[in-house]
Amino acid sequence: MRILIVEDEEKIADAIATKLKKERYEIDICLDGEEGLYSALSGIYDLIILDIMLPKVNGLEILAKVRENNINTKVLLLTAKSSLEDKLKGFDIGADDYMAKPFHIEELVARVNVQLRNKKDIKTKDILNYKDLDLNIKTSTLTCTTTKESISIPYREFLLLEYFMSNQNQIIAKEQIYDKVWGFESSYESNNLEAYLSFLRKKIRIIGSNVNIKAVRNLGYRME
Ligand code: CA
Repeated sequence: MRILIVEDEEKIADAIATKLKKERYEIDICLDGEEGLYSALSGIYDLIILDIMLPKVNGLEILAKVRENNINTKVLLLTAKSSLEDKLKGFDIGADDYMAKPFHIEELVARVNVQLRNKKDIKTKDILNYKDLDLNIKTSTLTCTTTKESISIPYREFLLLEYFMSNQNQIIAKEQIYDKVWGFESSYESNNLEAYLSFLRKKIRIIGSNVNIKAVRNLGYRME
């Protein structure tokens, strides 16, 4: 699951990111409000940790825009302000939780886990299935249920495959794939994705499945 941290104090952002990565979350960081707003509006995040006092655009404005655009990403507000009025305002415009600085990172991580518990339960069902393919989330092993052959899937290909298997029969745009699998921070080239997809197709064929990830011209890709 992917989490966005919007926080202008780099040390705090990095400390939170380090802890959350240990919990196996994918993390992106934005250090100002403008960048944060842009990333938040992508709708690719499962949760946003959002500081209120930010350069350029403040956290409450970001939250308001996110909700205006019907994006239901979980939002945990983080701020030096701890007055009741600010908390109520945050909840009023659609925050899911609130933490006042200074805070213990352990508590923040616990709160993030609570917010994502339902999603996590679905995701940590050990097996994702599509037609004759079973992907074991815990071991990153892909099995063909017809041939009973298995193959281990490396990290990036695993993220790609997990994304396709979680969005079955949908056409997924290249940009969405890049955002979800590589994140905003990374620089990428379009043939990079093609290469990973071809590795993945090869593995699917090796274990004897008929599933394919097809390019849909001008639109993106679909698993079928
Ligand atoms: Ca701040």
